[in-house]
Formats: sequence, structure tokens, C-alpha cells
Amino acid sequence: MSHFITEDQAALRDAAAVFARKEVEPLAARIDREERTPPELSAKVAEQGFFGLFIPEAYGGLGADLTSTCLVLEEIAKASPSFAGLLSVEMILCPLVLLAVGNEEQKRRLLPKTASGERLMAYSQTEPSGAGNIEFHQTRLTADGNAFRLNGAKLFCTQGEARTYLVMCRTERDSQKGYGCVIVEQEAAGFEVAPYEHKLGWRGTNTGPIAFTDIVITPENVVGDLLTGNQDFFMIANQASFLGHAVTSLGCAVGMFDKTLAYVKERSLYGEPMHRLSPVSDRLGTVWNKIEAMRALLYTSTRLYDDGRRDLLLGSTCKAWICETAFECCNTLLQMWGGSGIMDSTGVNRYFRDARAKMIAEGATEMHTSIIAKQVLGLV
Ligand SMILES: Cc1cc2nc3c(=O)[nH]c(=O)nc-3n(C[C@H](O)[C@H](O)[C@H](O)COP(=O)(O)OP(=O)(O)OC[C@H]3O[C@@H](n4cnc5c(N)ncnc54)[C@H](O)[C@@H]3O)c2cc1C
Repeated sequence: MSHFITEDQAALRDAAAVFARKEVEPLAARIDREERTPPELSAKVAEQGFFGLFIPEAYGGLGADLTSTCLVLEEIAKASPSFAGLLSVEMILCPLVLLAVGNEEQKRRLLPKTASGERLMAYSQTEPSGAGNIEFHQTRLTADGNAFRLNGAKLFCTQGEARTYLVMCRTERDSQKGYGCVIVEQEAAGFEVAPYEHKLGWRGTNTGPIAFTDIVITPENVVGDLLTGNQDFFMIANQASFLGHAVTSLGCAVGMFDKTLAYVKERSLYGEPMHRLSPVSDRLGTVWNKIEAMRALLYTSTRLYDDGRRDLLLGSTCKAWICETAFECCNTLLQMWGGSGIMDSTGVNRYFRDARAKMIAEGATEMHTSIIAKQVLGLV
């Protein structure tokens, strides 16, 4: 698919592929088994400058576009979809929230530290009442003199080594009500990180509940104008982050395809190479078609984004369709491994599990398809 991308983007993708093979692939099984990313791997990502790839140069990053950033994430996802998923939150979603609505001081204070990997950020929206419907959210920011107080609880926050949290909350001052975002440092009095839960897939990300009891939020940690109820920043940040999430599902399917291709060429069944069995080659062809279709949609969408088109519908379409299709691919591929695919020792069932988890994280498929349906029907 080199016809989609520039020479510079191809060079960056190739460098990421070398990095993924050398540094990520050898740790992928351990990341899945131990349910955390080894800090030495994050240090190597920082050395490459990948944490700051999508952050503008003015704030300490490399200023790459979304297409380049997704090419890097696809290569890393081929080796470890779980680690790539964590990176997409740190590299795209969190910086974008600040870039979209943060003020100059906040960008200068936080983005260089994220770009260098010194202090990574997490994004926290989901609550026990659900992720998408913010009208039901209970986490509240209330005015207290010249500052604010934050109270509430969140679920499923993907944290990795993050120490700075971007927390979505309802807001109240006098009779004004709104919804917005505040910056909360993990060291703040009243901040609690609960033990993370073991999970089926996307295991390298220590995802878990966090809670806030009467945390003092000073005005410099309020992102944007909380009280206008203006949620444009969700659209700006979410569109790119849905693409960043979708590309890790695409990389997941490609990584499993590559491993399966090598396997069916090597294995002989009933005295002949397994890939000569027509159900096997037919399925490989079908999966490859789907991979090419996912790539075409994904990179067309990132290019439109890079050209300035803001389209949440396209972001939701990519997130829903690519995550579903990548899982279908991994499901089909797993079948070709027979019993060996179920065993951990072959290292392929983690792709299947990661692809499954990605259908729910960053909004379940149905949430996205209901957004799409409402737009198509003209109901919003
Ligand atoms: C591994 C992982 C990492 C995550 N990381 C983060 C994170 O870093 N930050 C964060 O804020 N959240 C995070 N999440 C939360 C994630 O965004 C939510 O799990 C997801 O959006 C679904 O919300 P829910 O779990 O509350 O399910 P529910 O809202 O209870 O939904 C259950 C089911 O109902 C259906 N449904 C839900 N909404 C709709 C709708 N609008 N229309 C039609 N059907 C619907 C879907 O089938 C859905 O699966 C993560 C989740 C996972 C699994």
C-alpha cells in the first residue's frame, strides 16, 4: 500500500517495523502474561520519540501527522496489539484533548513531558452508568471559592505508567451547569487508584477504577471553559482517537495474518503442505481482502483528517467496522491453527483476545453504530 503514503511516511513506517520486531515482539508474550508493560519498553519508545510523534514541535514533539502516527501504531500492533492500544491513548487521545481545548500554559506545562515520556497522561470518561451518555455521569466539579472540588468515580481507566489524568466531569457554578475536563495529578490528596482487574484481552494496559474525594482543582487545571457545556472538543479528540484505536485493531489482524501465513506454509497435513488445502487458501484470501479494505478505509480517513476534514461519523465508522472486521479476521485465522491456536505457547490466541477487547474499548460497536444511524436518519 505504498501508493497511499509519501517517501517520508514509508521511511518512518519501516523504522517503526524494525523497532517493533527488535524491541516489542520479544516482550509481547510477557506483556500479555504479566498484564503490564515493562518500564524499559516505555523508555525505548521515548528514545525513539514516538510518545511525541503527534505532538507539535512547539510543545516538544515531532509534529507528525495522523497518517504517520497510525503507520507507526500499525507496525507496533503487529507485534503487540495490547501495547499499541496503550500507546494510541498516550500518543493521540490525551495530547489531542489538550491541543483542542487546553490553554497555552497547559500545553507548555504538560505536552513536553508527555512527548519525552517523563509524565504520561490517561483519559478518564467511563462511569458505572456507562461510557457514552454523559447526562448520567456522576463525577462532579463544584465551585469552592476561587478553586473547585472534584468528587466521583470512574471505571476502566487505561493508565499504563500515566501519572496525569484528564478527567471528564459535570460542572456546577451558581446556577450554571456544564460538562468538561480537568487535569488531576495522581499525587493529589483524595485521588485513589484501585487495583486493576485481570482481563480477557488488551492486557498490557492496567485498566481499572479511579476515584476522587474532595480533590481541590485550581483554575489552571480546568481545561477549556467548563461552564459553556461546549463539547466540540470531544468531537475533535474522539475522531482522531477512534482512528488511532482502529489502526491497532488493523495491526492486530495483520500481525496474526503474518504468523498464520508462515504457519500454514510450514505445516504439513495428510502428507501435503497445509496451504494447499483449498479451505485454507480460500480463507487466507478472504482475510487478506478484508485487511486491504480496512487499510483503504483507515488511511483514507487519516488523510482526510490530515487535510483538515473533521468528521466524527467517519471516526465512528472506522472504529466500529475495523474493530469488528479485525476480530472476524482473527477468529478465522485462529481456526487454521487447530488446537495449537488455543495453546498459549504459539502466541496467537492473544491476537484473538486483543481484537475482541478492542470491539468494546473506546465505545462498543453498538454505541458507534447508533451514532452513525442517528446521523444518517437526520436525528441529530
Ligand atoms: C480494555 C478497556 C480499556 C478501556 N479504557 C478506557 C479509558 O482509558 N478511559 C475510559 O474512559 N474508558 C475506557 N474504557 C471503557 C470503554 O470505553 C467502555 O467499556 C465502552 O465504551 C462500553 O461502555 P460500558 O462498559 O459502560 O458498557 P455499557 O454502556 O454498559 O454497554 C453495554 C452494551 O450495551 C450496548 N450499548 C451501549 N451503549 C449503546 C448505545 N448508545 N447504543 C446501542 N447500544 C449500546 C453495547 O452492546 C454495549 O457493549 C475501556 C474499556 C476496556 C474494555
